[in-house]
This record gives sequence, structure tokens and C-alpha cells, in this order.
Amino acid sequence: MEGRLLFLQGTPPSPLKNKMISSTEDISEEISESPVQGISIPSDEQILWLPELSDLERLNVMNAPLEDKARILSSQTSSSVDETLSEISKKTNLAYLESFELPENPTKILPLRLIHSFCCLPLQKESEGKIHLITVWPPSERMSRWVYSVSGSKPIWSLGSPEKIVRAITENFGIGADSLDDSDMDFEDEEDGQDDLEDQNAAIIRFVNEVVQRAIVDRATNIHFEPHKDTLQIRYRIDGQLVPVRVPDNLRSFQDAIISRIKIMSGINISEKRRPQGGRITFSHGQSDLDIRVSTLPTLYGESISLRLLNEKSQPLSMKELGLLEKEEKNIVSILEKPHGIVLVTGPTGSGKSTSLTAFIRKIHKPERRIMTVEDPVEYEVAGINQTQVNSEIGFSFASALREILRQDPDVIMVGEIRDRETADIAIRASLTGHLVLSTLHTNDAPGAITRLIDMEIEPFLIASSVEMVIAQRLVRRLCMECNQPADLPEADLRASLSLLEVSSDEVANLDRVRKAVGCQNCQNLGYRGRVGIFELMKMTDSIHGLVIKSASAPDIREIALTEGMSTLQESGWAQIKRGLTTLDEVVRYADGMLED
Ligand SMILES: [Zn+2]
Repeated sequence: MEGRLLFLQGTPPSPLKNKMISSTEDISEEISESPVQGISIPSDEQILWLPELSDLERLNVMNAPLEDKARILSSQTSSSVDETLSEISKKTNLAYLESFELPENPTKILPLRLIHSFCCLPLQKESEGKIHLITVWPPSERMSRWVYSVSGSKPIWSLGSPEKIVRAITENFGIGADSLDDSDMDFEDEEDGQDDLEDQNAAIIRFVNEVVQRAIVDRATNIHFEPHKDTLQIRYRIDGQLVPVRVPDNLRSFQDAIISRIKIMSGINISEKRRPQGGRITFSHGQSDLDIRVSTLPTLYGESISLRLLNEKSQPLSMKELGLLEKEEKNIVSILEKPHGIVLVTGPTGSGKSTSLTAFIRKIHKPERRIMTVEDPVEYEVAGINQTQVNSEIGFSFASALREILRQDPDVIMVGEIRDRETADIAIRASLTGHLVLSTLHTNDAPGAITRLIDMEIEPFLIASSVEMVIAQRLVRRLCMECNQPADLPEADLRASLSLLEVSSDEVANLDRVRKAVGCQNCQNLGYRGRVGIFELMKMTDSIHGLVIKSASAPDIREIALTEGMSTLQESGWAQIKRGLTTLDEVVRYADGMLED
């Protein structure tokens, strides 16, 4: 994939490709050997101002993209990026600015392409014949020469946080603004029509890569390209919420090229525009490969494209990280330690069911237990576990995979999802013949799982004697730990929310534990970072066993489960609020969703 190559280089696009600027550089070379004489700029070529580095460390830093250099260096010296940069600033006599302010129209002072290529921004400060700039790493001679050539002023450099600078560039100019800079593409001479086309292709490739790369950095799980009447909208889903991506104003004119590019990357037929299609991309990101599922759908103003990002190197979570309370964890583990039975996790798509199952498996993984999984797709790799992926194209379904797995002498089997009677049937029989089976079902609450299995024509007595526990769960957004603050809520508001959540009004006493989201650099100004689970645990007690055998309705089962101490999703949400992990807004929002279900 040609785009990959460009992307892997990690360095900003070479301005030399651009004829306009390369010609100005030629001019600058003619003007003087070094137009910025008198301003001594410590070069990063050899990082000589850091003599204590080993050759390998030096090489690692030198080969990294500009905006990553400080981070890589900081990881080698195990200090923070800020500390590293202020250390560098001392050694190089460049000021280190904690915060900075941009001038009204930064691109009037410095062309966008230089801002992007050098990862720098002009500052508001003014002085005669000089241009003040902030960048992420001590600038090279070359950078200074370019700035001088283009602006005619001597550059005065300062250093700043790479994260803040990169974010300021994206926020001010949108993702890919330099890739899709019209002026670049219009510049070519008539006879260079071919080059023009190639440049445009390269720009589109770069743009699509930038959108995906930014999504990965922002921890997005999905990217949506949505053609509308006047715009091509791009949105990320981060922690379950849609976040619009700021894109260049001229994006609409590149819509067809962008959509074609994604279709090419994902091996989809580009001439077919009337039917929905599916494909996949393996995207190289740093050391790892990212698997991306692509789906196209014809809409009124063009094909809508959705990308689902599956990070193969995702770190599976522990049970504690899921947000389980200690007593809940104990409760679940007591079931997981049994040699046989079924544990079901339920919830809608995206409620973190497979994350939970993976955490359970990691918890019970021991050398003397053979654990096998069948998943669609494998979302987390777990060392020491035998993971299989279904493949519907060749008829390798959950049911057929499960049947094969049973011939492989497993102790524990994890089935990604029970969707049909056949899978349910084999799973139940497997648990009755001495296997522990973990799986998920698409139901809203725990008791619903029982009636769903009955709907799949599974005999109630088989369900009653195999299912040990059903866990319903949802994910709510986790407060950013760096910026959350006390909510300072009026007591009456809390009282109203508690009654909405059907939580005891006595809990009003915990008013001062309620926190609110604020927003900072760490969380893309969302106030939240990551998610935390809320849970409803239903154990197969004797009384529930009796109800299941009688094919009782879900509400009846629920009523008994609650009298036996099952806590609701809303109560679990309130517990997470009290722990300072999420907000009342989040839980109330999800509770509203649950009522609609
Ligand atoms: Zn924050």
C-alpha cells in the first residue's frame, strides 16, 4: 500500500515536493549561505547538546518524527515530556513556553505547509524584523532558513509542549489541512498535468492516513465519513460518543477521491456505488497493525463510509479495571472457579461484553485449565489462550466452531455470542458435560437472558441447571482524572436524579462525593477519558431456579432477584458516581436509554 509508506516515514511531508517553495529555497541559497547568521540555532542533527545519550538512544530520537522526539527522549530518561523539554531548553538556550497565544491569522505569517512540516506555530509577539515561533524540538538550520525565506524575518524560536502544539495545529486548521491545500495542487504548469494528478493522489492518501492516525491517537473506535449536501462530515466515536472532526473547508470537493481512496485501501470494488459493500484495511501504526473493518452504504449525497477500528494490540483489562466493586468481583470469581456451568454477559452492542469476558478469562487463566475461545472477531489477544475466529464466508460459524472445540478437550470455552438456537444448544450441552462456558447475549437486562434462551426453544430445565450467573452491563464514560471537579450540586437536584435512578433518597448524604466533568488537554477537552462498567449481577439461586423451570416471565424473575439483593444498573451507576469514576449526567443519560429499551 503506497499510502502506508508515506505514513510510516513519520516525518512531515517534504516541502521539497512543492515547486513553489523549492524555488524560494533556491533563491534563499542564492541570497546568502546562511541568511540567519548571528542567530545561533542548536541543530538537532546530532543532538550534541545531550552528550550523555548512548548512540542507540541518539539514533532513536533522531529517527523519530519531530513531534515524537521529546516523548521518546523522556521515556529513555524516565522523566515527563515537560521536564525533558525544559531541560533541553536550558541546554539550548531556547525559551520553554508553558502556554502560548496565536496571532489573528497565523497562515498569513507562515504558510500552512511550513506550520505542518516543521510542527511549529507563529506567536503573537511582535518585534521589528523578527518572527517569533514555537515548536516541539530544537529547530535545525534548515528550518530557520525556510522560515526566513518565506517570511523575510529572522526566526526567534521557543519550545513548547508537543501535545499542545499539535493539538493547536489540528484545532486551528483541521485535520489534513495541509494535505488538501488547494493552492498546492493548482500550482502546476499545464504540461505537468500528470504530476498534478499524482500530487492530488498523494494528498488524498496523506489526508486519509491523517484522519485514521488522529483517530488512533484520540482512542476512537469508529470513524464515519458522511456525505451531506454541502459538506463531507467526518466524525469519530470516542468512548461511545460522536465527536465531529474539524476538517478543511474545501473537503467537499475531494469527497469522491477520498471515498475511492478508502475503497481501494479496503479492497472494495470502487466502481460499484449503488450497493453496500464491506472490506477491511490493515493499517500500520507504529509497531503494531491495526485491523479496520470498512462498510459502505449509498446515501442521498454519496456513499457513507464507516470504519471500525479493532486494535489487535489492545490491552485487555483486569476485572478491577472494568469497574467492578470488590464484592461483585468476588461474587463473579466464585462462579468462574466452578468446573462447569454457563456465565452470560448481556447488553446491547458496544456495552463492553467481550471486554468483560476477556477480563474473566484472564482472571481464571491457570496452566492446568485449557481455555479455548471462538470470537467474531478476536478483539483482544490473551497469552496462553487458544483463540479462534469465526469466518462466515466459509461457513465457519459459532456453532460449527463450538462443535470442533469440544473435540479439542477444553476446560473453559468462551463463545463470543449466542445468536441462534444451534449455538445455544451446543453451549448448554457443553456446560452440562463438564465445561465452564462463558458467552454473551443481546438482551437489556439479566433476567431477559433467561427468556431469550427460552425463546430459542431451549428447555427451561436445561437453562435452570446450566446457567450459573447472568451479568447485565453498560459502559458509562469515565471522568478524566486530571480535570474533574466537585459538582457543587444543589441538594434538590441530586434528590431529583436519585429518584429518577430509583436509588434510595438517603444517598443524598453523599452529595459532596459527586464530581463533574471539566475538560483538559488530557481528555481532548471532553472531560472524560475511557469508560467504566455498571453492572447487574443475577445469580441462579434456588428461588430463581424454580421460576425458570416454570418458564416465568422476565419481570417476575427480576422481582425475585431484586428481593434477593440484585442491584440494578442504576444503583451500580450511583456506586460509580460515589467512587468519583463518573458523573450523574452520564448515569442518568444511560438510565434514560434503559427506560426506552
Ligand atoms: Zn481532562
